[in-house]
This record gives sequence, structure tokens and C-alpha cells, in this order.
Amino acid sequence: MFRDTVNFIQNLYTTKEFIPLHEPRFNGNEKAYLNECIDSTFVSSVGKFVDRFEVEFARTVGAKYAVATVNGTAALHISLILAGVEREDEVITQALTFIATANAISYIGAKPVFLDVDLDTMGLSPKAVRDFLEKNCVVTDGKCINRSTGRTIKACVPMHTFGHPCRIDELNKICDEWHIALVEDAAESLGSYYKENHTGTFGRVGAFSFNGNKIITSGGGGVIVTDDEALAKRAKHITTTAKVPHKWEYVHDAIGYNYRLPNLNAALLCAQLEQLEGFLENKRMLAAEYKQFFTAQNIRFVEESEHSRSNYWLNAILLDDVRMRDEFLEYTNSNRVMTRPIWALMNKLEMFKACQHDVLSNALFLEERVVNIPSSVRL
Ligand SMILES: *Cc1c(COP(=O)(O)O)cnc(C)c1O
Repeated sequence: MFRDTVNFIQNLYTTKEFIPLHEPRFNGNEKAYLNECIDSTFVSSVGKFVDRFEVEFARTVGAKYAVATVNGTAALHISLILAGVEREDEVITQALTFIATANAISYIGAKPVFLDVDLDTMGLSPKAVRDFLEKNCVVTDGKCINRSTGRTIKACVPMHTFGHPCRIDELNKICDEWHIALVEDAAESLGSYYKENHTGTFGRVGAFSFNGNKIITSGGGGVIVTDDEALAKRAKHITTTAKVPHKWEYVHDAIGYNYRLPNLNAALLCAQLEQLEGFLENKRMLAAEYKQFFTAQNIRFVEESEHSRSNYWLNAILLDDVRMRDEFLEYTNSNRVMTRPIWALMNKLEMFKACQHDVLSNALFLEERVVNIPSSVRL
């Protein structure tokens, strides 16, 4: 029954060879910039490509500042520190996300609270957040206290799943009312907008990833964006070992991190960023073809929702039930078309089993049905 799907995807990519879920494309200035970087000998943590990338990235997303990091998880970790999250605080996030979101919270010693997502966006549900806060929390002395645990809810981290923007302005409003800092996990959503604004720029801080499977890549890399100059300076400082500038002395004024993005990776990123517009157009065309095909097959294709423009980073479909999903995964993967199920819910993983969560009805529904299909930019 999935023969047509396999044929269709083979035609899209004009090959009967293995078709990966998402492979990078290096058809711009990558090699030229890498050579320039190597010739300069500045291949490590300082260099002009890092500075140039930060300026160009900030401009691309419409943020005042961007601070490059070694990967997206590091960017999230630092973003949470900038938002004031400390050991024993709680951080609200969605149960349906990639592990990095929950890991970054845990690195600080804070506790994730896993709430439900919306069915259409697959991102954190404003209704679930409001319900949870009204049922469990009170604001005292400007702090949001979770009465069931006695801990402070410091931050909320929505994630824009597969590049589809979640209802970020509603979440922003709720966070303001409840004195919670909004930190966006925009790792998957470079090029995605909600009501004219780029994802990642709604909250106090936003984090992006440039891992090998993301829409643009530096092999590994990430970036923190913010409009707050003091936060940007602190981000740069603590991601670069918290070294106090001096001609020769080694003075560090905090326990910092070596989260610097090497200039080599930044060179690659500068070249990739130049191609972003083209990648976005290419992906939008691919999504339109998928939509037409799956609609005719009576299979739901996940589309951008109201008020949003998605980057269509990873295309996804919704199968009828877990049995059909498994058949689909089995058939496509054994026919050289790579497909993957959406993540297992975070609260089901061993290390997060004790974390507080709500009923998660939408997340559970999606967990059993959503599958990602090949989404690389076509040549
Ligand atoms: C990719 C990704 C990250 C960060 O990943 P890195 O591999 O550390 O760059 C964080 N959150 C989500 C949702 C992601 O998809």
C-alpha cells in the first residue's frame, strides 16, 4: 500500500538509491571560505568569520545581538542561565521535543515540567500552560511558585517543532502575566516566522542549532540571540571561559564554559547563510508537492498553521494509528527511503520519569502517528 509513496519520493529526488531524511548541501562559498580560514591560520575560537557570522545572523532573524556557540544544546544551556534559571528551579517545556531541550534544563540542576502541545503546530500549547499555571501555581513576590512542589518556575521553553512556529505570542503573554522568562528553542526553525517576526526573537533569549541535519549547518554549531545588550555581553563572556580582557594575564571572573564556535565552523556557516533564501524556496516547493500527493492518498500532511510561515525543515505526515505507522516505517526504510517516527515523550525516558507533567493527550496522539519523510533541499 505504500509502494506509491516510495515511488513518489524516488521521483522527487530522481534516484532509486538510498534517500536520507536530511542531508546538507554545500554548493556555495563553503570551500572558498574554508580555504581562506585555513590560510589565515585562525581556525580556532577567534577569527573574522565568527564575528561576521554573528552580525549576519542577527540581521537575518531581526535580533540586535547574536552569540555563536559550539552547538545548539550549549546555546540553550546558556540561554537558560541568562534567563536566571538556577539549581532546583523548574522550567516548563513540551513533552514532545528532542532530548536536547530537556538536557539543557537538567545541566543547570533545574527540573523540567512537561506539558502538552497543540495538535496543529506540535509545539507547546498556550492552553496547556495556562491550565497548568492556574491549577498549580501562584505568583508571590514577583515569582511564580509551583504549590505542588514549592519550587519556582523560572522559565518556559517552547520549541518550534520541525520548523512549524508554535503560538509564540500567546505563550509570551502568559509568561509575562506569570513572571516567567520565555526562552525559545528555535533550533529547528531558522527561516520560520510567526506574524511577521522571526521565531527565536519573541522571548528574552532564543537558541538555534547548526547540527548536520538542520536547515543550514556548520557540522556542529549554535547561536544565542537576544535584544538585550547586557545579556549578549554576558553570553559572550561565559561561553568564552569568562576571561577578563588583558594583554597577557589569565584572569577569569566566573566559572565559564568553553562553548566557543571555531572559526572554521563559522566560515562554513557564513557560506551556508548566504544560501538560506534558496533553501527555503526549494523546501516550500517540496512541501507543496508532498501536500498534493498525500492529500490525494488521504494521509494528513503537516502544514504551517495560521499566522505562521514555516521553513518546512522536516516534512511530516500523520498516519491513522501506531500499526499503520509501523508498517509505513518498515516499508519505506526497507526500500531505501529513510523515514523516522517523532520522538518518544520526554516523561517516558528513564531520567525524566519523576518529572511533573499534565495529561499530554495531544502529545500522546502525535507520538503514535507522526512520521518524518525525506526533506533535503533538492538539487
Ligand atoms: C537540534 C536540536 C537542538 C540542538 O542540537 P545540537 O545538536 O546540540 O546542535 C535543540 N533542540 C532541538 C529541538 C533540536 O532539534
